[in-house]
Amino acid sequence: METTTHYELADDSYVIIGGAFPRCNTLVVMGDETIVVDPGCAIEELRRFLNGIDLSLNDIDTIVLSHIHPDHIVHATRIHRLSRCRIAANDITAPLFNDKEKMKEFLGFSRSNPVRPLWERLVNEKMYGALDDGRCDEILSNGDKFSNGNTTLRVLYTPGHTPDHMCIELLEPNLVFGADIDLTEFGPYYGHPNSSIDEFRNSIRLLKEKEYTGIVSGHLPNPLVTDYSGALDAYEHQIDLREDLVLLAIQDGARSIQEVTGNPIIYPSLTDPVFLQFETWMIEHHVKSLEKRGFIVRRNEHLIAL
Ligand SMILES: [Zn+2]
Repeated sequence: METTTHYELADDSYVIIGGAFPRCNTLVVMGDETIVVDPGCAIEELRRFLNGIDLSLNDIDTIVLSHIHPDHIVHATRIHRLSRCRIAANDITAPLFNDKEKMKEFLGFSRSNPVRPLWERLVNEKMYGALDDGRCDEILSNGDKFSNGNTTLRVLYTPGHTPDHMCIELLEPNLVFGADIDLTEFGPYYGHPNSSIDEFRNSIRLLKEKEYTGIVSGHLPNPLVTDYSGALDAYEHQIDLREDLVLLAIQDGARSIQEVTGNPIIYPSLTDPVFLQFETWMIEHHVKSLEKRGFIVRRNEHLIAL
């Protein structure tokens, strides 16, 4: 039985638990407006929550998107059709949300990628609606603030996961919605050609420097992490563990990325070509990092450990 429910973060701020991919946790901030950040939880859970406070999906005033991933944007267009709410995102996310062909290219699934139809099928089966073209009404920039009753939201750019990823700070309860800096055991996800391990590390460190009361994870079933400094360290450490495994595979004789992924590191029980694509992109980032750090070289297209 599904146990999805909501979690009260502070007066007027709630998380509707979506949990692991292909869903995500959805932040709801009540005030002058009803603001929804990342509508990726089950839509019936969001509806039930709103009904519980005598509102409906039609009463949503604003949707904020943390980044363009299908699991975070999935219900945005449908809610917009019902409520005519405004949709706000940063200047990278907005054009991708408006034109999903651009989004596909941004995520590495241009028409030339043979995995594209399988990825589209995954999105349509698990995140139906995410590939509908939408319309962003408002562009958010780093540091932009908007007050909503007792709560002020502020945008914090945190690229790396994707170039457009941002967190949403809740100033009065002094929390931050971390979106996909999600503190899961899996660790950071950087499985697109334009993801960046270095930028992800910088974004993790940026959160670590702040003195929040807690980080709200975009995917943990218990979303609020108050003692987050150690959690961020452990989360970042997953990157080091993976990089060690990639180096070990090359030391053991894997000469190409394909040979490294033959014994998958990121998704050990990998069975699906879409996840093999994600694995491949993540390993490619590690190979680049190992090259840059002088642990490996490429000779005649072969990876060689030094
Ligand atoms: Zn994401």
